[in-house]
Amino acid sequence: MNELIVKYQKAADIHKEVRRYLNVNNIVKPGIKLIDLCNIIELKINELCKNEVDMINKQPKAKQIKGGIAFPTGLSINHIAAHYTPEFNTTEILGDNDVIKIDFGVHIDGCIIDSAFTYSANPIFKPLLDATREATYNAMTKCGVDARLGEIGKIVQEVIESYELNINNNIYPIKPIYNLGGHNILQYKLHGGKIVPLFYEEHNKEKMKSDEIYAIETFATTGTGYAQHSNYCSIYAKSGKKAPLNFKESKTILNDINRNYASLPFCTRDLNILSSNYGLAELTKKQLITPYPALVDSLNSYTSQLEHTIYISDKKTSFLSLANDY
Ligand code: MN
Ligand code: MN
Repeated sequence: MNELIVKYQKAADIHKEVRRYLNVNNIVKPGIKLIDLCNIIELKINELCKNEVDMINKQPKAKQIKGGIAFPTGLSINHIAAHYTPEFNTTEILGDNDVIKIDFGVHIDGCIIDSAFTYSANPIFKPLLDATREATYNAMTKCGVDARLGEIGKIVQEVIESYELNINNNIYPIKPIYNLGGHNILQYKLHGGKIVPLFYEEHNKEKMKSDEIYAIETFATTGTGYAQHSNYCSIYAKSGKKAPLNFKESKTILNDINRNYASLPFCTRDLNILSSNYGLAELTKKQLITPYPALVDSLNSYTSQLEHTIYISDKKTSFLSLANDY
């Protein structure tokens, strides 16, 4: 792990640098087009990663590693909690009363930093944003060797359910999105198989171990507390399954995926196609790729998220993506 942890730290530095760039230039504000925000973030990630990777690869006897965007940038607004990334022809603009979750990933040699924050120009949403902020920070401080995942969920649930949101004198209780959660991260594998729940799972005795990487993420909502798949889908990842293909278009897309993304998630924008593409449809139907549709709570609800990537070791827990901004 020692060799990899250096790469996680480099990826974390780049994540923080991208956030600093957004802040210094006051980029996240009402009026920005989602597609522009997405491009700004992803170009910056690629630029910074290229410098880092070039330096590593130039060293004597270096095995040539890759680095860059770890997954399509999530720009999920209001009742959309996660997995929304714009298509290249999207005209959507961030509004004054929108609550946006900005979730982006950086990787160096498959060592992924997955970290997200929530922004709204309207201060009435502060309690909703505070709920996930406090929940994630409290959860992070309880992480460490032998920490029970089910107990971390308890802290998250208690914190989030203690908040409520007042909109025009209507009181909305705030709850966690119970069917979402944090996760461990493996090299080139964003979701490593362990889940950190957002509610008390008394019978979940699974524990954190030394030398594990976790994305600690919490979601809060004024809606039902359950995220469902929407009809909108622009994010996919290779499944590992094989099957004969009928269309030339499908083969072209698959070659592109193999060359550029391997096991990492990608989006239609990356492939320069729309989700209506029939090659993409064939790959999905034959299960060579898995679709990750946008996850939504009830219409007119609002959701927030805060996410950090951390490293568990015998000595201490390192909050890799933590900086002054969040
Ligand atoms: Mn994330
Ligand atoms: Mn995550």
